[in-house]
Amino acid sequence: MRRGRNPRRAYDEDGREIAPPSVGSARAQGETTISAHCHDCCHHAIVSTDRFPIDMPIPDIAPRLRCSACGSKHIGVMMDMEAH
Ligand SMILES: [Zn+2]
Repeated sequence: MRRGRNPRRAYDEDGREIAPPSVGSARAQGETTISAHCHDCCHHAIVSTDRFPIDMPIPDIAPRLRCSACGSKHIGVMMDMEAH
């Protein structure tokens, strides 16, 4: 059975899903925060991953966040590079 593609996943040339970093794999690298930004008002925030399950893919955190400035749920996340 062929599943539909997840827009929050990357795929290789053969259409295989490339596993995204998870909360646990990021934490193993010392990453305990992610960088989140609001697409509506450009508000930017650093979010702790402590409250998310260890096996949750980083991209799946985005739908669970809400902008603290404008209340939008149109949030993007990425690894927190500024922590280094
Ligand atoms: Zn916002």
